[in-house]
Amino acid sequence: MRTMIVAGNWKLNLVSESAVELAGKVVKSAGGDGPEVLLCPSFTLLHTVCEVIAGSRVKLGAQNLFWESKGAFTGEISAEMLLDIGCSHVIIGHSERRQYFGETDASVRRKTQSALLAGLKPVVCVGETLDEREEGSSKAVVEHQVNGALERFKPEDLSNIVIAYEPIWAIGTGKTATPETAQQMHKMIRKLIGNMFGSEISDGIPILYGGSVKGNNATDLFSQPDIDGGLVGGASLDAESFAQIIDAARREPAGD
Ligand code: PEP
Repeated sequence: MRTMIVAGNWKLNLVSESAVELAGKVVKSAGGDGPEVLLCPSFTLLHTVCEVIAGSRVKLGAQNLFWESKGAFTGEISAEMLLDIGCSHVIIGHSERRQYFGETDASVRRKTQSALLAGLKPVVCVGETLDEREEGSSKAVVEHQVNGALERFKPEDLSNIVIAYEPIWAIGTGKTATPETAQQMHKMIRKLIGNMFGSEISDGIPILYGGSVKGNNATDLFSQPDIDGGLVGGASLDAESFAQIIDAARREPAGD
């Protein structure tokens, strides 16, 4: 069964007033049916956004967590804390965290495990750089990241995982992977997960595309058979663009 998801990654943007306004508009766009809609504001806005989306179909996600559940780790946030504040999801291993904060496949794996243990759904991000794409190693790089993040999990752990394929050269640049290129990578990721955990698991895993998804390219991307929605950065900060992306996902049949 195909689950379509549209997730907004607000990154380091917005404060209470602007967040309340935007979240309120997203609640209206999400309406009563259609794709799963997820908002991922900064930690400080989680409580505020949780109040705005209460009773709607919109879900709450964080942009990061730490793998320990408690202790002397100043400045960190645990999976339990995210659950406590109303999150159902958490983004893990976004390329900006890998690039600026030294996250590795090993830390992504530990964070994914702690999210799963606590009952949060991890949105695990993978994707190659422009250099890696140009030298022809995109598939090998992404394969390595997926393996590194998911190795040693059991098939039953996988039922709560979402993958986001985000080619780094397409994030925030206005350059989108063509639907065909994205589809090839998504298909490869699904096959790899199938080899690791079986096709029943891989068929059910939502694989989102991220990288300059906009209202005007979402339909072409989402119509690809292995693209189950989008992880959206820039366009999620604009209520109208994000609504167009939600509508594009809504038009996709939920079939097998
Ligand atoms: C992202 O941050 O995950 C992202 C895909 O950003 P953008 O949509 O702005 O490229």
